[in-house]
Amino acid sequence: MKNDHGTPGPSGGSTSATSGTTPAPGVDGLAPIQDFPASTRVFKTDGHVKVPFRRIALAGGGPPVEVYDTFGPRSVDLRQGLPRLRQPWVDRRTARGDTNFSQMHCARQGEITEEMRFVGLRENVAPEFVRDEVACGRAIIPANRNHPEAEPMVIGRNFLVKINANIGNSAVSSTIGEEVDKLRWAVKWGADTIMDLSTGANIHETREWILRNSPVPVGTVPIYQALEKVNGKIEDLSIDVFLDTLVEQAEQGVDYFTIHAGVLLHHIPLTAKRITGIVSRGGSIMARWCLTHHQENFLYTHFERICELMKKYDVAFSLGDGLRPGCTADANDAAQFAELEALGKLTEIAWRHDVQVMIEGPGHVPMHKIRENMDKQLEICHEAPFYTLGPLVTDIAPGYDHITSAIGAAMIGWFGTAMLCYVTPKEHLGLPNRKDVKDGVIAYKIAAHAADMAKGHPGASERDDALSRARFAFQWEDQFNLALDPETARQFHDETLPAPAAKGAHFCSMCGPQFCSMRITQDLRADVVAEGLRQKAAEFKATGQELYARPAGADYSEDLERTEVG
Ligand code: SF4
Repeated sequence: MKNDHGTPGPSGGSTSATSGTTPAPGVDGLAPIQDFPASTRVFKTDGHVKVPFRRIALAGGGPPVEVYDTFGPRSVDLRQGLPRLRQPWVDRRTARGDTNFSQMHCARQGEITEEMRFVGLRENVAPEFVRDEVACGRAIIPANRNHPEAEPMVIGRNFLVKINANIGNSAVSSTIGEEVDKLRWAVKWGADTIMDLSTGANIHETREWILRNSPVPVGTVPIYQALEKVNGKIEDLSIDVFLDTLVEQAEQGVDYFTIHAGVLLHHIPLTAKRITGIVSRGGSIMARWCLTHHQENFLYTHFERICELMKKYDVAFSLGDGLRPGCTADANDAAQFAELEALGKLTEIAWRHDVQVMIEGPGHVPMHKIRENMDKQLEICHEAPFYTLGPLVTDIAPGYDHITSAIGAAMIGWFGTAMLCYVTPKEHLGLPNRKDVKDGVIAYKIAAHAADMAKGHPGASERDDALSRARFAFQWEDQFNLALDPETARQFHDETLPAPAAKGAHFCSMCGPQFCSMRITQDLRADVVAEGLRQKAAEFKATGQELYARPAGADYSEDLERTEVG
């Protein structure tokens, strides 16, 4: 099968529906994905811009709760790909002769694009505000003109904190179907962007399937494929091979590229005394190239050529942190901050081309050193959005690094990081499977949401309050359905109390009926109310059961007479 870009994989155009499951259309590794319970896909509209939300109905009464929805159109044939939502918008800009397709370029011309209106509705802010944040570089809307299937989203610290999930095959594991399945799975649970980090066989075809089926922006690290093109020989890499790779991926529709242009020759000795040296794949590749040729990083010296290409498609830079610390002992060292200085300079160059930029950050950082990362990034990179991997706040928990990193992610999100790259329980140990992807996404949804609440994002606590009310009222179904992971919440409850009658019980198995503190509190409140009523009744009787109390000595006989006459 050929698609619109003339490459193997799914082709564009399909149907959308408001609910249902995604079928497995006979592609190896794909499994059906269930929709959320008690939920419907609803839309807020602004002219022809239609923004999806997930509406959760409450059985216990009260208004439904609407939540940000990254799942995309349901009931789609994955062999056909998603509907091409943005195609008319892109066509209009092509027809008027645009050569710089960047959202930043439009914003700086004063234009409010459909993408800006879309994210304005999605985030409940004015489109003018979105335009101004994009124009000054404080926010980006990753939106390659060749990825019209993506629903626009914004990354910036004055918006909701976003999360990214990494997928992609390696030389030793997984099929295309399994990777598309992980994509669908990750966006169901709330991933705002996806990075395809494939390095194994069929990189191009895997990416094509992912792009045509991704309702969220897709990022890549193009140096991985460039290295495949030179048969793994780092010394044979060149700017020409790299630019060829960028064109190939930009034509397919990749929305942002991680480019390790800030790893400079003189930075490399600064890593010599680290415990874990250089842990970024891209960073280590570029360091090796620099040392082999004893030349400056070609991504740095040819950066303007890369900018020229990026703006033709509106691919955003995710300027890579090739020298990020790989353990807490290496955090905030000279190498890390020297690279950050280089990224600040590259940001200025990209902005001269109106190319959108975000800055990647660490990694492994103990809690007391996290704030310094955020403060330096804001100052050195002129408030370009920060996109951090965690950070992991301790190194002692392999197998649980979704937790060690979610702690750091919540903190740095609160301090101002715009997007958090998830970490799964398999970090440092192996390629994540379906369960690991879900665990990583949920851990990061928690971190991002906690940061949104701490930042005082308008309406951020609405869902918390609805769930808390349901919990106190023993509306078990509502409590499950409002949860980030309704399946697990229900399953845990039903492990010990599976009977339907237990869904009406005023306790669960944690404390049992005698010691349920919320039931005791409810009884206490009822007792206080009953006692208050009893007291009032007694007072009423004691005062002669008159309807209106009269102060001592008052005489109302004239008033009563007037009432009778009137
Ligand atoms: S039994 Fe305990 S955990 Fe369960 S609902 Fe009551 S207070 Fe909450």
